[in-house]
Amino acid sequence: MNNQSIKLLSDFIAIESVSTDKSRYREILKAVDFLKKMISKLGFEVDIYQIKDSSPLIVAKRIISPNLKTIGIYAHYDVQPEDPVDKWDSPPFKLDIRGGKIYGRGVADDKGHIIQILTAIDRSIKNKKLSNNIVLVFEGEEENKGANFELFVGQAKKDLETVDVFYIFDMGMKAKNIPQIFYGLRGIITGELKIKIGKTDLHSGIYGNRVMNPAQIIAELLAKIKNGETNEIKIPEFYSTVKKISQKERDLLSEFISDDETEKKNAGIKKFIGDFLSSKVLPSFEVNGIVSGYTGQGAKTIIPSEATLKFSIRLVPNQISQEIKKITEDFIRRNLPKGVDYVLEISDGGDPFYTDFENHFAKKTAEILSDVFKNKTYFNRSGGSIAAAEVLQRLFKKPIILTGFTLPDENIHAPNENIDEEMFYKGIVSLEKIISQ
Ligand SMILES: [Zn+2]
Repeated sequence: MNNQSIKLLSDFIAIESVSTDKSRYREILKAVDFLKKMISKLGFEVDIYQIKDSSPLIVAKRIISPNLKTIGIYAHYDVQPEDPVDKWDSPPFKLDIRGGKIYGRGVADDKGHIIQILTAIDRSIKNKKLSNNIVLVFEGEEENKGANFELFVGQAKKDLETVDVFYIFDMGMKAKNIPQIFYGLRGIITGELKIKIGKTDLHSGIYGNRVMNPAQIIAELLAKIKNGETNEIKIPEFYSTVKKISQKERDLLSEFISDDETEKKNAGIKKFIGDFLSSKVLPSFEVNGIVSGYTGQGAKTIIPSEATLKFSIRLVPNQISQEIKKITEDFIRRNLPKGVDYVLEISDGGDPFYTDFENHFAKKTAEILSDVFKNKTYFNRSGGSIAAAEVLQRLFKKPIILTGFTLPDENIHAPNENIDEEMFYKGIVSLEKIISQ
């Protein structure tokens, strides 16, 4: 571990900046301190945006001249909780290198990228190659709903307005040495429905046929919301604004078709319903959990008094989360029977993200990545959601490039999170070229 960037990564990983864990708020502040010191040393002016006990947003600028291009770089310094700890082969907050892989919570998502970025900046300054202005945006609430991101970047508007292109380094490669750039993400809203028919569970012999069953109500509601055979959502107007994909885009994304049999094996399932494009370009409604009644050992002949449903909806360009929230809410209310009490809560959520994949910066970045990794750079859309991309685009209307140097099998959010050593170093080389383009 004599390498400077590995040493830095090791120190950074040792900070347990889990943003969802209030008891580790000091660790969040420690991570901010750590970054502030490093970034200041590189000649940046650092601003911290914070309210109450939120995880601060770091915005730092290094302006050589207002006449030069300004490159914006986003990443996040908070990490997911480490549990289940006993599934880790080495302690989660202690960097470990074995078999060409670097292990530790946050190495892939997203601290590795931050160290790569800062190392690349350091080297470019030392080599006198850095000819652009740089603005860094490091978030601390990405794994915790990002509740204040929009507020904070709004406050940092003066600095962020000057940015010509934003890079979001929180994504991964198609495969080892095969880079990719994402130009689309889905938006997301989540919801919870609690149904109550009475005060307590009832005897199914005495009350069967006489009362409604909340679990049944949820089952019938779900059947009205979605066709389980096709996954088609049946809420009226749900698809009315969905952006159709052009043939050009279909061709581009078709390069990602992989063999269904391998994918089935990877996912551990027997059958796919939709084709591979359906999770990228179509919205989806999924039940995330249902709780009701008795599921313990043996029989217990009750009619449950309540049932809870949790669901999430992924949105695609040009759906608007507020509109989808409203029609879903109305649909559920209209389709619940009279005579039950219920509480329905749907989050405000985040809108989908889509950017022109033929812009000059995207093309240039693809060239740089291909040059470093000696492979074609793929353009892709992800079924996942990163709120920061949509917010930065909406507020600043500049090209946004989502990419990164992690690999698909690196256990993000799971035990034994890791990155590939070789990709880590090549990522730094790519970043040097990106910031000096
Ligand atoms: Zn992340």
